[in-house]
Amino acid sequence: MAKQTTEISWTNHTWNPFVGCSIKSAGCTNCYAMRQAYRLEHAFGFPAYQGTTRMVNGNIVWTGKVNRSSDAKMREPARKPDPALIFVNSMSDFWHEAADDRWRHEALQVMRDASQHRFQVLTKRPENIAPIMTRMGITSLPDNLWLGCTLEDHRVADRAPILARVPARIRFLSIEPITAQVGKLNLDGIHWVIGGGESGPGCRPMDPEWAADLRDQTLRAGAAYFWKQYGHYKNNPLVVQQGMTHEEAERLDPVSNGKGGALVEGRLWRDFPELPAQAKAA
Ligand code: SF4
Repeated sequence: MAKQTTEISWTNHTWNPFVGCSIKSAGCTNCYAMRQAYRLEHAFGFPAYQGTTRMVNGNIVWTGKVNRSSDAKMREPARKPDPALIFVNSMSDFWHEAADDRWRHEALQVMRDASQHRFQVLTKRPENIAPIMTRMGITSLPDNLWLGCTLEDHRVADRAPILARVPARIRFLSIEPITAQVGKLNLDGIHWVIGGGESGPGCRPMDPEWAADLRDQTLRAGAAYFWKQYGHYKNNPLVVQQGMTHEEAERLDPVSNGKGGALVEGRLWRDFPELPAQAKAA
């Protein structure tokens, strides 16, 4: 089994061939990467993060600058022999307007070469993929690349059909952080759905019914479902629907990671569309 080097439960590792981003939609409001990027530049002096964030009225914000990571970082997946799931660009967006196509070419080649892994490329900008691929002169993506987009609420639900038009062997949706009911989703051409409530400082509430609704829609569409967490015990159905205390719910829910538990109507839903040999996330 591949080792887990990240707390993100649907992957084994994160890999950032480039870093830096800008706010795109409501799901970005409490962007963890933005705060982390600021710390990595100002507390640790990491050169790749230089100029990617700044402080405005006491708040950290992205500047929109995107920087290539070091050569060592760019080639990092090659140094991991064990087959694994690798989340690409946790500190950026692979299809961001300010990222250089040469970096994308390099990163795609790294993915092709590291065929033992599955690379999870998640974006909030699926509308950029087709134009960027055309500009790059490519008509297909590596076979071991899973192409995903984030849908945090119904206002961006049209991202799913845009994603479904891009040729990729596995396409997935991340409905996280779920901040409002997503309504009826178009899951044609989607193979995997991840959902989760928001965690961390200032996390927004969610209705536990949304986790069950998402599961039902996903299974009806024949896709695999992964419910990550409720984000906080105030959103957990054992608390909201059965009146338990946060401590009681935490004792009963096997995902005791302090992020609100993950049982959906009494069971965990942590399925994958497929896994590389030996790879399994937590
Ligand atoms: S797209 Fe992702 S990394 Fe970029 S601002 Fe939004 S949440 Fe943060």
